[in-house]
Amino acid sequence: MPDSYRQGRCGMASPTVNDMTSLLEHPRTTRPEHPDQPGDRNTFSFETTTRLPDSADGKGRGGARYGRTGVIHTPHGDIKTPAFVPVATQAAMKAVLPEQMRELGAQCLLSNAFHLFERPGEDVLDEAGGLGRFMNWDGPTFTDSGGFQVLSLGAGFKKTLAMDVKGMKSDDVIAKGKERLAFVDEDGVTFKSPLNGSEHRFSAEISMGIQHKIGADIMFAFDELTTLMNTRGYQERSVERTFRWARRCVAEHQRLTQERIGKPYQALYGVVQGANYEDLRRHAAQQIASLDFDGVGIGGAIEKRVIGDTCAWICDEMPESRPRHVLGIAAVDDIFACVENGGDTFDCVAPARTGRNGAIYTRDGRYNIKRAAFKHDFGPLEEGCDCYACTHYSRAYIDHLLRAHELNGFTLATIHNERFFVKLLDDIRAAIDGGYFDEFRDESLARFYANGSRG
Ligand SMILES: [Zn+2]
Repeated sequence: MPDSYRQGRCGMASPTVNDMTSLLEHPRTTRPEHPDQPGDRNTFSFETTTRLPDSADGKGRGGARYGRTGVIHTPHGDIKTPAFVPVATQAAMKAVLPEQMRELGAQCLLSNAFHLFERPGEDVLDEAGGLGRFMNWDGPTFTDSGGFQVLSLGAGFKKTLAMDVKGMKSDDVIAKGKERLAFVDEDGVTFKSPLNGSEHRFSAEISMGIQHKIGADIMFAFDELTTLMNTRGYQERSVERTFRWARRCVAEHQRLTQERIGKPYQALYGVVQGANYEDLRRHAAQQIASLDFDGVGIGGAIEKRVIGDTCAWICDEMPESRPRHVLGIAAVDDIFACVENGGDTFDCVAPARTGRNGAIYTRDGRYNIKRAAFKHDFGPLEEGCDCYACTHYSRAYIDHLLRAHELNGFTLATIHNERFFVKLLDDIRAAIDGGYFDEFRDESLARFYANGSRG
């Protein structure tokens, strides 16, 4: 986009005739350089900038730590890593426009293949020119495979995976009073739509077909996600099944890349499962490393105490050149543990979801804005925060909006929380590059958890 047009929007200069023409032609579109060719795989790559120095505790390869900064190059731009990836589930951040996400520093967004398949349908996104174009986001995008949503129907249709394993051994645990909505077989998953009860199939090939039409820069292979309640035997069988599905995903992805000419290259990450078991995680990582994936997703239910180790086990078995995405975490201590042990990108819905309920993240922990104490507090959500909510609005006002169920309250709380996580990862990146990661981690964690804060 010409600079003069940008200035025109700000009232600093008028757009010229040429600029208006380019506006009509949708200047934000990434036009394929070779309309008659398949997507060029060289447009996706990862390069390391700074590696964390070795640590004394012996983790990783001979004490080497896997934490690093780097850049993921995609057809829609670069992602400086480590990076937080906000979740725009249905091609939308709830209550926040993509322009506002860009303004608060988000580099990329992740949407959900399953939800977009259900509504509006992947053909609509294909017709629109892909996910980014559809939602007016010109940066890099991710889609998850739909596996999490489909399988969570089987685990009782909960929003999150059950982590309380006490006294539970069954492979058929269903939340009380819920109907099982998903059934796994060798070929894929049959499930009932939570929207209208209609029956659908998901498989490796179907997930790849949907994700290619959605058109995100980074996609994930269709995997079976287990919970910590599943038995060891089930986890073993599931890891093998996920490997067979991963192979089929790669084959279908390569076929679709060749077939869908004139589209930007879409990268495919394989997902490593294996719950809390070191041997299973290593085995699954070797399997995924043996296939022609562009990156790796670290998935499934992981107990907090082994989350850093799990990343390190997987990095042990993986080529360094592949970027590593940790799926669905946003506890501050987990993020530090995962970054230190090799995680490059992180997504989670928690900042937005909890923000809509009034939970506000700050460097001094998480608090609830709807506490009575804030009714007359005209200070910002967090002193010193540079986000739009904190520089323009007070706690008292945001508290009022949320109590009154005014949608602007969702907007402001979400902007602040997303800024918190985007900036946390920006600061971590600066700390690794600047050689002060350990000090920054210790100081940040001590401060965040000083008051017994959760999150
Ligand atoms: Zn703020």
